[in-house]
Amino acid sequence: MSKKIKRILVANRGEIAIRVMRSARELGIETVAVFSEADRNAPHVRAADYAVCIGPAPSASSYLRGDKIIEVCKSLNVDAIHPGYGFLSENSSFAKSVAEAGLIFIGPSPEAIEVMGSKIAAKNAVAAHNIPLVPGTKEAIIDIAEAKKKAEEIGYPILIKASAGGGGKGMRIVENSQEFESQMDRAVSEAISAFGDGSVFIEKYIASPRHIEIQIVGDHHGNIAYLFERDCSVQRRHQKVVEEAPSAVLTPAIRKAMGECAVQVGKACNYYGAGTVEFIMDDKLNFYFLEMNTRLQVEHPVTELITGIDLVKEQINVAEGNPLSFKQEDLKISGHAMEIRVYAEDPFNNFLPDIGLLKTYKAPAGVGVRLDSGYEQDMEIPIYYDAMLAKLITYGKDRKEAIDRMVRAIDEFTITGVQTTLGFCKFVMQHEAFLSGQFDTKFIEKYFQLDLLKNPTNAEEAQIAAAFTAYMLQNRKTNTASTTAETNSGGSNWRKNRVTLG
Ligand code: ADP
Repeated sequence: MSKKIKRILVANRGEIAIRVMRSARELGIETVAVFSEADRNAPHVRAADYAVCIGPAPSASSYLRGDKIIEVCKSLNVDAIHPGYGFLSENSSFAKSVAEAGLIFIGPSPEAIEVMGSKIAAKNAVAAHNIPLVPGTKEAIIDIAEAKKKAEEIGYPILIKASAGGGGKGMRIVENSQEFESQMDRAVSEAISAFGDGSVFIEKYIASPRHIEIQIVGDHHGNIAYLFERDCSVQRRHQKVVEEAPSAVLTPAIRKAMGECAVQVGKACNYYGAGTVEFIMDDKLNFYFLEMNTRLQVEHPVTELITGIDLVKEQINVAEGNPLSFKQEDLKISGHAMEIRVYAEDPFNNFLPDIGLLKTYKAPAGVGVRLDSGYEQDMEIPIYYDAMLAKLITYGKDRKEAIDRMVRAIDEFTITGVQTTLGFCKFVMQHEAFLSGQFDTKFIEKYFQLDLLKNPTNAEEAQIAAAFTAYMLQNRKTNTASTTAETNSGGSNWRKNRVTLG
């Protein structure tokens, strides 16, 4: 039974809220934005047909208030809720309340969200389907002595992981048996404080792995298709920095095997909607299931660019009860796409969020460039939320063109007022290991040093200083020069001090 959706509430903010609204608009569906008091003037509020303030700035009082969001839906005759990513997107009780209120949740069933929300439950659910798993414990650890015995069997180094973990948090590497107890204590207390759940388990630590994930989409009729892979191996503290599709290392045979495996994972939880099955791959290209994310992923645009499928439209299509709009054999990879996450973070201050006023915000454009952004010039970045300003995505006929285009787009992107990760991402794009495609999750650890960002600037500054001195010498008599320095975190203007000669 299908039901045409006429009005969608987007329970999110920033770039993802705007991205969802764009597809809805193309489908002739009206949109409702919700916003916190801190987001009154945010672009996502203006992008919607209707907008409702749902509370004060902290997420717990606004974007996480599922009850208020459902109330707004009722008062505005909304048919469906799109949760975006983060906030309520993987909250099974919210998905359940949405259904109970007679609304459509644009996402999977509450049961699928619940089982995949726990890494241990997820592994057990897929184990029966012949899915390769990283060697490790199948249950939460209760008995430390027994767990230690298991760790010896698996062989060090091992990884202790929080079952409820996410965002790269709650993981501890244990190099040898002497460290086992102390790391275990830390892992459990971290898991309790970050996720309110102290369940941890052990996995073999895969040396030099790649992170490869498969996009799947399923409908309510039992069809599930895979939309190939994304390679998200460039990570900082287990968090993705650069994503691309396709991966530079997959063969067609491995791609097919991973795709079919991801479909099996979907089948294991009767999946419908868009989801991502994450795998870790060792240096011999053996792959193992890590976890499944039951929502639209931050990096979904690279898949859209290489397949030509609008994933949000497809989410809406299956949420209406229609069959998938394509068959597996219709799908093919065309070209190459690259994405960087542009954060208001200061690489010179340990990548801490650099909150402030966006004095200049000039977006890149041109052939093969897509910018999914939640910000605009003269906007203050609120301290309450994630510091991601935008996702910059480029497309090319091949990997090289996508990379060249990314470097060009980074150079065009001008942001002043706050420090950003643009220069850092440019460093990645130009590094020979990245260019060769031969890199793993240790890329940043291995190759990145702050000096590499500073050096070109220092040379530039030295040149400017030399020119300035020459000018001063020439104009000794009218020695009235004034200098103004302005920091610029955009691409080629990275930390360039602009010297104005008066
Ligand atoms: P989260 O839910 O916090 O994102 P994941 O299980 O998806 O956690 O893992 C995040 C990242 O941590 C992976 O992309 C990988 O870089 C690293 N990682 C996870 N498991 C292992 C493992 N067994 N061996 C080596 N690295 C791992």
